Amino acid sequence: MVIKMHKNSLWEIKSKENSSLEKETEVDVLIIGGGITGISTAYHLKDSNLKVALVEANTIGSGVTSKTTGKLTYLQEDLYLKIQNYCGKEVAKKYYESQKEAIKLVEKIITENDIACDFVKSPSYVFTNNTSNIGTLQKEKNLLLSFGASIKESSSLPNNIPCKYSIYVEDTYVFHPLKYLNALKKILQKNKVKVYEHSRILSIDWKNDFYLCKTKDAFIKAKSVVLALHYPYFLFPFLMPLKVTLEKSYIGAFPTNEAVNFNAISIDNPVCSMRYQEENEKKYQIFLYDSHNICMETNDLEHFQKLKEFSYPYEYLWSNIDIITGDYLPYIGKIHHHLFLATGYQTWGMTNGSLAGKMISDLVMKKENPYAKIFDPKRKMNLGKVVRFPLAMMSNMKSFIGEKLFLKKTWYHEKITFLNRNGKKLAIYTDERGEKHMVYRQCPHLKCNLIFNEEELTWDCPCHGSRFDLDGKCIQGPSNYDICYKEER
Ligand SMILES: Cc1cc2nc3c(=O)[nH]c(=O)nc-3n(C[C@H](O)[C@H](O)[C@H](O)COP(=O)(O)OP(=O)(O)OC[C@H]3O[C@@H](n4cnc5c(N)ncnc54)[C@H](O)[C@@H]3O)c2cc1C
Repeated sequence: MVIKMHKNSLWEIKSKENSSLEKETEVDVLIIGGGITGISTAYHLKDSNLKVALVEANTIGSGVTSKTTGKLTYLQEDLYLKIQNYCGKEVAKKYYESQKEAIKLVEKIITENDIACDFVKSPSYVFTNNTSNIGTLQKEKNLLLSFGASIKESSSLPNNIPCKYSIYVEDTYVFHPLKYLNALKKILQKNKVKVYEHSRILSIDWKNDFYLCKTKDAFIKAKSVVLALHYPYFLFPFLMPLKVTLEKSYIGAFPTNEAVNFNAISIDNPVCSMRYQEENEKKYQIFLYDSHNICMETNDLEHFQKLKEFSYPYEYLWSNIDIITGDYLPYIGKIHHHLFLATGYQTWGMTNGSLAGKMISDLVMKKENPYAKIFDPKRKMNLGKVVRFPLAMMSNMKSFIGEKLFLKKTWYHEKITFLNRNGKKLAIYTDERGEKHMVYRQCPHLKCNLIFNEEELTWDCPCHGSRFDLDGKCIQGPSNYDICYKEER
């Protein structure tokens, strides 16, 4: 039997009925980005008296949200211990409450609107196969018990999957993130929130009492702007590249007859995560293996190879990148006059992006929110404690400079050739039919040299995570521009 292999996630739905921004318009609130953060923010603002619009560079949910594993859980590896270590127990408890509230918010939205998005209860496990990690998991369990969580321990995982030790909770869920977002998009449109797709914001300028946000062909005047774009493309006012690191993970989905409804993640290195999903009357296991800081390793093929060693053949293979902050807490709040940001979810954005929607809508409407303080993007970090962070930053710099000085050809596919034309660095990929795909091989964001991802056939930035398809179209930011080759540039 030949199994067709898709080099994309199991969730991707081609969004229909989309309209792009073609003429000038004026709104009270402009949301930039149509992932879980942007759509959730628009949802919570839809009943306000404010005129709201959302612009998305590609299609709704096509960013990081389309490549998640779609677990809605508050049991998140050993994150509470890490937060306690950096920010104290009280903050860790507040974070726990915020995640529980986020799950309730999503459940309420799904129930009230009768959304069919495969939302099912799914016990969440965190496990280890490494005896020296058992103590950490026991501490995580005790911390969660002290917060009032109903958490249990076990020496196995469901479905006869071996482990040395695990902790688990039962009041958590999984869902299909894109079915959820597309349903919310329809609700927004019925409630007169304008949703513009294929509309990339290229500049945002503060004009004393409003923002002027320009796309290629049009502009929007907005009293407030919400940056729900995962990684802002500009340096000021937030200096994002100095505040976060990026983590890349490798995921596959393969058909199985042994689907059991639970989800799990390990705290081991390499990390391993799994869940099940039924799609087109077929049952799949979604399996994630291995994560790394994008700057530290760049050989994607090797990582995909490790994933394939676990189970093969996969029907879907993909990678995804998320943002890690110094103190393991997201950045959700105001960063400038009437300018709001929500990002930095440490791979737990189904809960945090949903919560950010409620928090930002409260901030825009000048309502109090119990989590505003702990997630404030302008909070001070204890630099003594977040020492791993400057180290990661130095490694980013080293990689950035190293990449500029040395072109490590060993990373590249044999079908890639490099050339310089009029001082510009170009790369040509020759596909199986002999067709040539020529692109500029520097990221337009901060000019890092791009790495060819041989498995997914994309050009990926090893510094800040931008991604481009074979012909150079930008499929993920922070870059706001394509790298398609043009005779004159
Ligand atoms: C491997 C992996 C597995 C994960 N699994 C889980 C999980 O099981 N559970 C969980 O809770 N979280 C999970 N996450 C985290 C979660 O997927 C992300 O945190 C979340 O999807 C981020 O959503 P977002 O809306 O902030 O970003 P995105 O989904 O990336 O949305 C941002 C949008 O902004 C658009 N955009 C960018 N620039 C512009 C511009 N200039 N103009 C207009 N639009 C623009 C982009 O096209 C994009 O669609 C996982 C992450 C990874 C890496």
